[in-house]
Order: sequence, then C-alpha cells, then structure tokens
Amino acid sequence: TVDSSLPLSKDLDYHLSAEALRRKESPLKGAFKYYGKPDLVFLGGGLPQPTYFPWNKITTESPAPPFENGIGYKPQDASEMTISEITKHTPSHLEGIDIPLSRSLQYGNTNGQPELIKFLKEHTTMVHPMQYQDWDLIVNTGNTQGWNDLLRNFCDKGDTILTEEYTFASSLEAANAQAITTFPVKMDSFGIIPSQLDAVLTNWIGKKPKLLYTIPTGQNPTGSSLSNERRQEIYKIACKHDILIVEDEPYYFLQMEEYTKDVNARSGKSIHNHEEFVKAMVKSFLSLDTEGRVLRLDSCSKTLAPGTRVGWITAKASFIERFTRIQEVSSQNCSGFSQSIVGGTLNRWGQTGYLDWLIKLRAEYTHKRDVTVDSIYKHFPTELMEFVPPVAGMFFAFHIDATKHPKFESEFKGDVLAVEKAIYERAAEYGSYMIPGSWFKTVGQTEPPQQVAPEKQTHLFFRGTYAATPLDEIIVGIERFGKAIKDEFGIKN
Ligand code: PMP
Ligand code: PLP
Repeated sequence: TVDSSLPLSKDLDYHLSAEALRRKESPLKGAFKYYGKPDLVFLGGGLPQPTYFPWNKITTESPAPPFENGIGYKPQDASEMTISEITKHTPSHLEGIDIPLSRSLQYGNTNGQPELIKFLKEHTTMVHPMQYQDWDLIVNTGNTQGWNDLLRNFCDKGDTILTEEYTFASSLEAANAQAITTFPVKMDSFGIIPSQLDAVLTNWIGKKPKLLYTIPTGQNPTGSSLSNERRQEIYKIACKHDILIVEDEPYYFLQMEEYTKDVNARSGKSIHNHEEFVKAMVKSFLSLDTEGRVLRLDSCSKTLAPGTRVGWITAKASFIERFTRIQEVSSQNCSGFSQSIVGGTLNRWGQTGYLDWLIKLRAEYTHKRDVTVDSIYKHFPTELMEFVPPVAGMFFAFHIDATKHPKFESEFKGDVLAVEKAIYERAAEYGSYMIPGSWFKTVGQTEPPQQVAPEKQTHLFFRGTYAATPLDEIIVGIERFGKAIKDEFGIKN
C-alpha cells in the first residue's frame, strides 16, 4: 500500500509529549523478531504453548453480501450466510484470510494481526486516498482508548487543546483527568465555524493549543457535520497555526442523503453501488492532509458492534510508532478472539462486501432519520426552534430560544439553564427522555485567561437519538417531548 510516488510527511515529532519521548521499546518485545525464525531454538519468551489454548475452532455465522434484504435480515440457509471457521492453525487455502487462533491468542503483533491490518489499509486507500507515503495504522480497542493514548502522546500536564463548543463528554473527561485544559471553539448547526477557530488561535494568549479535537461527521452531541469546504478551511488554519487535527470518526459511515420532506422523492436518492457510495462520502481530514498533522480515530463500534472493541488509528508512521510503545505496556492489543472473528468476517466479505454492508447501514439510518425528522416537524413548535436535520450519525439536536419562554425573566430570572431543566423535567414527567445540551459543554479556561468577548446565552438544546429505539417508540417519544415544550412555553394547538 506504500505509494512511493507520494511525498513524505513533514517532521512534526516536536509535537510529541515528554511522556511519549520517554517511552522506549520494551526489550522483551524486541525479542519477537526472532520468534518463529527457522533453525533458531527459541528459549527466550514466556509464551504459553498454543497446544494448551483450550480453543481449537470458532465458528461464526453472519449475513452474506450484498445483504439484499437489509442488514437486519436473518439468513435462512447457508447460501445467504457468511460462515467462518477459524481454527488454531489456518489451512493453506485460507491463509491470508483467517487469523489462526494459535497466533491471535498468543502474545505479539501489538499493532494488530497482519490479515486485519491489510484489510484496513486497503479500505483506507479506497475511502481516504492518502497524500503522503509514510503513513501507518495501529489496531486498538476503539476510539475511547485511541483518544486517551493520543492525549498522553501529544500533551503534557497544563497543555490546552481545542474542542467543539459542545462535545463528547467522555473525551472531555479523558483530557480533564490528565490535567489538560479543553478550550471551546464556537460552532453553529454545521459544526465548527472556521473563522472562529482562526480568531481563537490568532488572538491566543500564552502557550498555544496543541491540537484540535473534532467529531466532524454526525457530531456527538449536536448531530452536525462539517462540509467539504469547512474541512478545507479548518485544515488550512491548522497548518497556519501549526496545530494537529484529531478526527474522532465513529459515525463517518453513517452518512445519509439530505432530508427531504417529500416522501416520494426519497427512494430516488438512495445509493446502490460502490463507486457512488465512496464518491458521496464527505472528505475526511485524513485525505486532505499533505503534511501529516491529522490523526484519525476509526472504530467498528457503530459499523459492526461496540463490543468488538476493534478500532484503529491512522496517521504518519512516526506517530503510530509512539502508539505501539503505549500499547506494549497497557492493553498490548485488541483481544485475539475479536481480531480473529472480525478479520475472518471482513476478509470473507471482501472490500466490496464490506462496502455493501455500509451501504445497507446507510439506508437503515436514513430511514430512521427520516421518520424522526418527519415527526419533529409534526409535533414540535418549530417557530421557537432552530433545527437542521442531520446528514450523518445517530444524533439530532434542536435548539430552542429560551427568551421566548413567557416566564423567562419573571420566574427564571433570565437563566437559560433553568429553562433547560424545566423542559427536561416536564418531558421526563410526560414519559420522554433526551439529554440536555449543557451536559456536553466545553468550559475549560486557561491561566492567564483568554480574552473572549462574553456572550449572552439565549439558546438551549437537547440531544436525541434515533439509534437505540424502534421507530414506533421514537414517534411516541417525540410527540411527548413536543408537548412538554409546548406546555412549558404556553403554546396551544
Ligand atoms: N506482569 C507480570 C509479572 C508478567 O509476568 C506478565 C506476563 N508475562 C504480565 C504482567 C503481562 O500480563 P498480561 O498478559 O495479563 O497483560
Ligand atoms: N468518540 C465519540 C465521538 C463517540 O460518540 C463514541 C461513542 O459513543 C466514542 C468515541 C467511543 O468509541 P469506541 O466505542 O470506539 O471506544
């Protein structure tokens, strides 16, 4: 997969943290290059014998591409199934496809099993054509681990990072625990506002932020997605101010067609073939990166299953090597069972079969989104709201102008959060639950503080999801929530 006609990335290793620079290769891991060498009697490693692993075979059954009846369909007979029999020692006709249990359940291959890495690298070149040659990827246990390790590799205590104004609460917690300040960048219904990012960095007081952490597609919690144009602008700003971009992209493949009210026009927009599908994808920051300053976190959590605990980081090779060093002394690697099972299924499906899966997943989420949005327009007081139907992911957010509350000044004393709480409690009482937006707010401040003009907050928002609930229940939940807002704001209908 190395394309030597491409240029090399820039030297950006000066961005590494003191901790990353302290990490040395574990001398015992260095011994692995001798393991399995012919004519070498290996008395070196404390490796248990695969003969003593109590699993000889794992059989898995999955639907088979092209998933004509949708991804939720249960296959009726072998012709509709992908069956993987993964054994301790892979028979020769399955070499390169299956990851033998004798290897996956053994120590070693910190970066992931070669058969899985090969699949993921091919997938990367299909979906995110790279612009420099010295890139690599490492398999890990998902984006939660990826982000935590990344902070350790690039930030020192007291450093500041930039995040979307509202972002995934666990990611903020990971930074907080490492004494890293998270500083917000203003966003609108379409994600980070590039000019705001530039202004924050241009006017920065003190040691500049290390990186921008962003969830560009189907953002958690706002459901927003950055356009190709904004991505290009943000990348340029990152180069200008020499910061790294971390794209945390669990929802990248949950991209959909734009919402249309006209039900009859919907089916005409759906995607059927691989080329159309890849072309319709918004450009990742990784694919825009000419210098090597983007680190991409990918996860199987939303495309296959969260409990696979399979994810991967893609970035320039010298950065990936630092992640190998972290994994060697922490998780070591993603579970061998998981790699054998996920690798076995993906390699049987092939690249095009996996794209078929993603195309059908897209259709499922598009339908769920459509039904949800139809219901929002039907039951919510849209005159009070700002609402942009999501084009990716599993979340939607609606922003409400709290100042329109009849008792905003008299009872709530102009406190937007008090209005948020009142809606939240009334909705729960009516039997519908969504998460208040304020729970995701990035509130970090630096020392000395940045001089940002104080802004009077007037809007609040809630995060809902159409992922976890059957459609008929979603409709009931939205109707109840809509009634709660209307009753709270004294709107009759
Ligand atoms: N601690 C000690 C003392 C060990 O000997 C070993 C394995 N050789 C480990 C930790 C690593 O254990 P694990 O495979 O559970 O991460
Ligand atoms: N990052 C974001 C933005 C998420 O929304 C989630 C899942 O909720 C994660 C990371 C966790 O991903 P993983 O399951 O790969 O650890």
